[in-house]
Amino acid sequence: MQLKSIEIIGFKSFADKTRINFPAGMTGIVGPNGSGKSNIAESIRWVLGEQSAKNLRGSRMPDVIFSGSTDRRSLNMASVTLTLDNTDQFIKTPYSELKISRKLFRNGDSSYYINENQCRLKDITDLFMDTGIGQGSLSIISQGNVENIFNSKPIERRSIIENVAGVYKYKQHKLTAQKE
Ligand code: ATP
Ligand code: MG
Repeated sequence: MQLKSIEIIGFKSFADKTRINFPAGMTGIVGPNGSGKSNIAESIRWVLGEQSAKNLRGSRMPDVIFSGSTDRRSLNMASVTLTLDNTDQFIKTPYSELKISRKLFRNGDSSYYINENQCRLKDITDLFMDTGIGQGSLSIISQGNVENIFNSKPIERRSIIENVAGVYKYKQHKLTAQKE
């Protein structure tokens, strides 16, 4: 499984349609302070279902939509699409290429897509659960996060380890089964 590219439109500082390709190997993103490096990492977390505006350094979710600059009006919509190569079937789905998209309008309307078919957030969460790349996973460590992990309570740290070890999914299944 490999991240092939990301397309960002109207998300944070990316007013224009921006496509970033990730060729095989390692990719580094460099740039001056405030140029948008963290915004790229946040756009990946967002499309994978991040629900906390605070985790994206905002107070409400529409804060992720481009809010205008000295020479540009604000936009009404943010959209991010992640393209993943899944030829190795790392993610258990018949698709060899996966396109995951999320859109948000200023009025709060929001939608998710898997390969251009509208879906629920849950479909995306389920797809990535225990792959180590989904919502809340540790594949993306934001600034200040390492410190938070060190300072977390044992029970929180346990849940981080369970997530990394891939047992979280089974705990969720158990909880659902117990409720039924
Ligand atoms: P550093 O090296 O300091 O970590 P960075 O490259 O990670 O910087 P970011 O934090 O990704 O930079 O980008 C910050 C910029 O994004 C700021 O200029 C901020 O004004 C802009 N920004 C954030 N949200 C929005 C938004 N909704 N609309 C327009 N610009 C935004
Ligand atoms: Mg940064």
